[in-house]
This record gives sequence, C-alpha cells and structure tokens, in this order.
Amino acid sequence: MAKQQMLQFVTVGKEMPSKRPPELRAKDFHEIYGEFSDPKAAEQSGRCSQCGVPYCQAHCPLSNNIPDWLRMTAEGRLQEAYDLSQATNTFPEICGRICPQDRLCEGNCVIEQSGHGTVTIGSVEKYITDTAWEQGWVKPIRPAVEREESVGIVGAGPAGLAAADRLRRMGFKVTIYDKYDRAGGLMTYGIPGFKLEKPVVMRRYEQLVDGGVEFVMNCRIGDAMDFAALRGKHDALLIATGVYKARDIKAPGVGLKGIVQALDYLTASNRQSFGDSVPEIESGELNADGKRVVVIGGGDTAMDCVRTAIRQGAVSVKCLYRRDRANMPGSQRETQNAEEEGVEFVWLSAPKGFVGEGAVTGVMVQRMRLGPPDATGRQMPELIEGADYVEDVDIVITALGFEPEEIPTLWNVPDLEVTRWGTVKADFRTHATNLPGVYAAGDIVRGASLVVWAIRDGREAADSIADYLSQSARVAAE
Ligand SMILES: Cc1cc2nc3c(=O)[nH]c(=O)nc-3n(C[C@H](O)[C@H](O)[C@H](O)COP(=O)(O)OP(=O)(O)OC[C@H]3O[C@@H](n4cnc5c(N)ncnc54)[C@H](O)[C@@H]3O)c2cc1C
Ligand code: SF4
Repeated sequence: MAKQQMLQFVTVGKEMPSKRPPELRAKDFHEIYGEFSDPKAAEQSGRCSQCGVPYCQAHCPLSNNIPDWLRMTAEGRLQEAYDLSQATNTFPEICGRICPQDRLCEGNCVIEQSGHGTVTIGSVEKYITDTAWEQGWVKPIRPAVEREESVGIVGAGPAGLAAADRLRRMGFKVTIYDKYDRAGGLMTYGIPGFKLEKPVVMRRYEQLVDGGVEFVMNCRIGDAMDFAALRGKHDALLIATGVYKARDIKAPGVGLKGIVQALDYLTASNRQSFGDSVPEIESGELNADGKRVVVIGGGDTAMDCVRTAIRQGAVSVKCLYRRDRANMPGSQRETQNAEEEGVEFVWLSAPKGFVGEGAVTGVMVQRMRLGPPDATGRQMPELIEGADYVEDVDIVITALGFEPEEIPTLWNVPDLEVTRWGTVKADFRTHATNLPGVYAAGDIVRGASLVVWAIRDGREAADSIADYLSQSARVAAE
C-alpha cells in the first residue's frame, strides 16, 4: 500500500463507514455501520493533524495514543497500530463501536474545532482491531509465570473483564462470579446488537476462558454465595457489579400493566437475539410489535429502547423528554439514527400520569419550557399551565437512569463504606475500598457511566491488586 501523507484534512473530507439505509437496518438487530476498506481507513487516518499536544488523547479516558496509531494506519503499518492501540485499551473494538466519541476523543479533535470535521477516530480504532482478529494478531493470554494468589471478581461487565484480563496476564488465578448466565454485563444484556453485536463481546469472553480465567455464572453474591465466604476463598476481591436499581417515576397510574422498565425490556430483546426463548416477548409483555410505544427519558438507554421498539415492529414510537434536543444527555449521533429510523421526539414534555383500567392506555403529557439556569448553569424545565394532553399508548417504557443496589445490606457486609448515593467508596487512584484486600471498579463506584471508564477502572484496579498481593507475599516471606 502506498504511504498516505498526514495532515490531509484540508483536502480530504470527513467520512464515516457507510451506514445501512434506515428501512433496511430497522428490520434487524445487526450493527448499522459497515467497516472501512483498507484504503479508506488509511485516507481517513491521514486527515490527522498530528498535534504536539493531542486533545483527543487527553479526552480519551484510556489516554489512547491516538495520533500515533492513526499515523501507522495511514502508513499501512496496521499490525503495529494494533499493538499500540491494545497496549492501553483492553477492548478497542468495543470502544470504537460504542464510545460517545462526540463527547470524548472526536469532540476534542483540533480539526473538528477548526470546522473541518473530526478524524473518525472510533471507526479507525474498530477497523484496526477487527482486522487484528481477522489476521490472527490478537494473541491468546499465556502468562509468562503462574502465581499462587487468587483473585475473585464479582461482576463480568467491562470493569470485571478488563481487570481479569490484566490480572491473568500477570499470572494470577482469577475467578469471576456473575448473577447472569452470560458474561459481558450491560455490553451483553443492556446495549442492543445494532450498536454492539454480541459475537464481538462473546469473542472476548472466550479469549479469557481460553487464557485460564474461571467463570462462575448464575451466581448472585449475597444470595447464591456469601460475601464473607468469598473473602475467605480468595486473596483479594474486586467488586464490579454495576448499577441496576431503576429510578422510579412518581406519577398517578404508574403501577398499570404495560408500563415497563427499560432494562427489563432491553434484556428480553437481547436474550431473544441470542436465540433464547423469552416468555415475556412471546406473551407481548416486553414486545412492542404492533403497538404504540412511548419511551420516557432522554439518555442513551432511552435511545436504545426507541430503536429496539422500531425493530420489533411498533406502529409508532415517541420519546418524551423534558428538556430540548440541545440539552438532552444522550448522544446526538444516536438521536439522529433514531430519527432516521422513524422515532418521533417530543421535546419539552414530561409524564404527569398514566390512564387506563388495569392496563395503560394513555400517558398524560405536560408541556414544558426552559426556565432560568440552576446552580450548575443548566436551564431548568418549567411547566406550561393548561397545555396538558393525553397520548394514546399500548406500552410505556421508562428509562430514567439507574442507582446502586444497597450492597452492605444485601451482602451482609455493614462495614463496607458507601457514599451518600449508595455507590461503593473506593480510592479514585488505587480503587481500594476500606476493607483490606477488597477493591471496587466501574459503575458501582462512579454511578451509571460508560464502558470506556469501566475498562480504565478495571485495569487500574488490577494493577493495585497486583501490588497489594506482591506486597503481602513479600511480608509473608520476611
Ligand atoms: C441500555 C444501556 C445502554 C448503554 N449504552 C452505552 C454506550 O453506548 N456506550 C457506553 O460507553 N456505555 C453505555 N452504557 C453504559 C455501560 O454499559 C456501563 O457504564 C458499563 O457496562 C459499566 O460496566 P461495569 O462493569 O461497571 O458494570 P456492568 O456492565 O453493569 O456489569 C456488572 C455485572 O455485575 C453482575 N452483578 C451485579 N450484581 C451481582 C451480584 N450480586 N452477584 C454477581 N454478579 C452481579 C451483573 O450481572 C453484570 O454482569 C449503556 C448502559 C445501558 C443500561
Ligand atoms: S477509547 Fe473511546 S474515547 Fe478513547 S479513542 Fe477510543 S473511541 Fe475515543
């Protein structure tokens, strides 16, 4: 391949990989973006301006060495690009697919700021690692030494898996416990296939199994197994359980049949995509087929629900959000994708209550406007009196965010310190909790966040656990 010059952003425009047309992609749960061809990846990487102080890298939670792997891709040195990329990111092909790049690396790209359109960093990262898998450059995990110490990890989401990968490479014995039947956490049962196809996650799980990580599935700690017993079994523990308590909506009629929670809805759909038999889909309880759907919320979870409903064959899908488009928390790219697929956004609207006898038949919608900013500078939604109306529905999906479960109570470990929000208190650098040898990482510490932050926490926690175990071994030898 001819070597591609860098700094081509003035003459070469920004291009994403091709996107499947909405009428086709809305019929299935496959990813919507294609892959770059080799020349296109090189061309798009060649747009990078090779900044001396790369803001993209500074705004990547993993501090990925982006300008260097872009240059290597532009020069056709793909295997080197992969080696560099995977040195800082345990799952680059996953981040390339689902990071909100517009808020992270790409949103801070200097050529984006100068109006030329960002380098499509995420798509190149995905391309590099997908190519590495195809070419067999992704090597099995084979530790150089085997160590005696064992680490127990509760939670097989990205935080737990990233920690397991790193610890196992250092030779520790690693066992992961998870309440679900499949690994991956929200990457498996939360995020839909049209953003992240499931074989991409399962391939990583298989890599860890092949590398000697033991998985104990269908095992809910605090229920199937006691936390104290777990502490006795391992030399160190990592809590990486995520946040799963759905925020409630407080409005009249909220208990009506047909009002369902986002994660129940998405989990059922993801299970169906795995080929599982899902009674709630078959009964229609968690199935939007032929229904008028209202989704409440403006975050990424709401975006995933509206787009899932379209794919299930909903007659209409409306998304109620109490602020406007500019102030929504969800990704603008995903909102646009949803609109292309036929979702209607009803900005500045909130549910006042639900109507129906036994089952929901309508949402009482109240209209809002944006008032003065609050202490954080964000404009507060205000009610417009007398503008209420009823929206007819067959199913309502609530997507108002998640909170941590009460781990000290559920696990009978009252000494474990938590914050006033219920998240586990851990040192932000070492990820150590107040219990010796017990660490915590990911959403259970941060609150609902992102996969890329969970990966970073998991990697850092693994390093701290390794230090702790090495120190304990030294003390024991003295
Ligand atoms: C619908 C949805 C869409 C999202 N989309 C994106 C996106 O596009 N991009 C992005 O970056 N982030 C996204 N996120 C956020 C992202 O998925 C999370 O931030 C990330 O998965 C957190 O990782 P984690 O490892 O901390 O927890 P999780 O992924 O939640 O994994 C925790 C694991 O712990 C297990 N567990 C919990 N309690 C117990 C117990 N008592 N015993 C045993 N096991 C237990 C769970 O079964 C789970 O497997 C999305 C989240 C949701 C809900
Ligand atoms: S990990 Fe996420 S933020 Fe970092 S370079 Fe990749 S896509 Fe961007």
